[in-house]
Amino acid sequence: MSLNIQKNGEQEVEQLLITLLGDSRFGSWVAGEMALGKGETIHLTNPATGQHFMSYQDAGEAIVQTAADAAMVAQKLWWAKTATARGQIMWACGAKIRQVAEEVAQLESISAGKPIRDCRVEVAKVADMFEYYGGWCDKMTGQVIPVPTSHLNYTRHEPYGVVTQITPWNAPVFTGGWQIAPAICAGNAVLLKPSELTPLSTTVLVKLIEEAGVPKGLVNVINGLGHTTGAAAIANPATKKVVFVGSPKTGGIIAAASAQRVIPCVLELGGKSANIVFNDGDLDRAVVGAQAAVFAAAGQSCVSGSRLLVQRGVYAEMVERLASATSKIPVGLPWLDDTMVGPINNLTQYQHINSLVNQGVAEGAVVASGGCRADIHGGEEGYFYRPTVLADVDNAMAVAQEEIFGPVVSVIPFDDEDEAVAIANASRFGLAGAAWTADVGRAHRMAAQVNAGTFWVNSYKAINVMSPFGGFGESGYGRSSGYEGLLEYTQTKSVWVETARDAAIQFGYSIE
Ligand code: ADP
Repeated sequence: MSLNIQKNGEQEVEQLLITLLGDSRFGSWVAGEMALGKGETIHLTNPATGQHFMSYQDAGEAIVQTAADAAMVAQKLWWAKTATARGQIMWACGAKIRQVAEEVAQLESISAGKPIRDCRVEVAKVADMFEYYGGWCDKMTGQVIPVPTSHLNYTRHEPYGVVTQITPWNAPVFTGGWQIAPAICAGNAVLLKPSELTPLSTTVLVKLIEEAGVPKGLVNVINGLGHTTGAAAIANPATKKVVFVGSPKTGGIIAAASAQRVIPCVLELGGKSANIVFNDGDLDRAVVGAQAAVFAAAGQSCVSGSRLLVQRGVYAEMVERLASATSKIPVGLPWLDDTMVGPINNLTQYQHINSLVNQGVAEGAVVASGGCRADIHGGEEGYFYRPTVLADVDNAMAVAQEEIFGPVVSVIPFDDEDEAVAIANASRFGLAGAAWTADVGRAHRMAAQVNAGTFWVNSYKAINVMSPFGGFGESGYGRSSGYEGLLEYTQTKSVWVETARDAAIQFGYSIE
């Protein structure tokens, strides 16, 4: 299908929904069916054109209850299958996603405003996630523990039952797969509430995995607002664990709501990651790495390298080269193959970026590139912001402390290794970090000293479903992906089996 979006993609989205969901009406996806909400009407805007392209209604409590009932039934059926059968179905999910990957990528690109080239990569990674966790299904072994008694003691990894997952708008289908795959691998059912701004691709994803054999009702997408539908899912007695990906502010609300019910939660929140370039780093690679770190997804990524710390010996050269390279980045309509930076997802976010940049400049930062709206033909009303390099930033400035979630890098000079560590750690966040250096010892010292859940050496943004991901500090707690992410979806049971012949006598009580 070739995209010919004249205005706002309304017809293209309708056509893609008919192809992928079998319905152009939109609501929640519950027990394998469309469930139309009756709550507040939510209007979706195309980020590249600023134009409305579709509306749907908030799911609300009644649909959440139907989804919770369906999930409880489906979870028992799913857990009763053999581990091998669950793994085979998850592998089939990967194949099914690959069959329609292009259509899913286009839907994501138009509705979330992400460059099509990024969407293609993310959809392929979602297929990988189902295959990776499909492989884990029959390998979730427990331990046999050599206890000092006559018991056989072993552990079992059991599912929670129903888990609620709440996701944001910056990588909707990617984050959906990232959380659904480990949850069902571990034997859980899911209530998933995507951001109300980007619900389409996640809903399609669940329809696809059902076509691959996942029982209807095992994964339900409840579409609507956070404070109504999201809150109802957390409050529902069926929910036994909550996994939240989003802003720190909302993360606090989610954690409090979970604590009220005494259920655990995982929080994957924001970041203000330090990307650190030393005098001895390979500058060619560091210039490219610094751009990939912060301009991919227009900086709307929790791991963005939004603080670039540069040692004084290469500071001037780094700023100059980075500013020059940044001015050449193709910014444009997200559905065009050449576009590397698309629009900001929504107006509120655009205004947040603009105001933090202006504040930085008022506090003394120097605009080396960008720093304003990008004018895009065909996207005159869209939320385009030029990739921006702010030089001479002080780490105390708001632009260096607040998560900007946009295509803006703040460049901060430093003198030596100790100062680099001190600046990197002078942040309430701790999601990621990186160091560019030729000194192996220094690379490992930095990896050990920077407070971050992920650290790269001479690289940035390498993330894979096989490796654990999560934050230190206000970037959250708990882990997603890898084996650790899988364990988040299990609770461990310790089983004691008496093996002694004279067991009854050991207790010392009379048998009569
Ligand atoms: P952003 O600023 O990224 O839009 P949030 O962190 O507020 O994001 O939202 C991330 C997700 O959390 C979205 O799916 C949103 O609907 C949901 N959400 C927001 N408020 C609540 C709430 N009170 N209870 C449950 N979910 C919420």
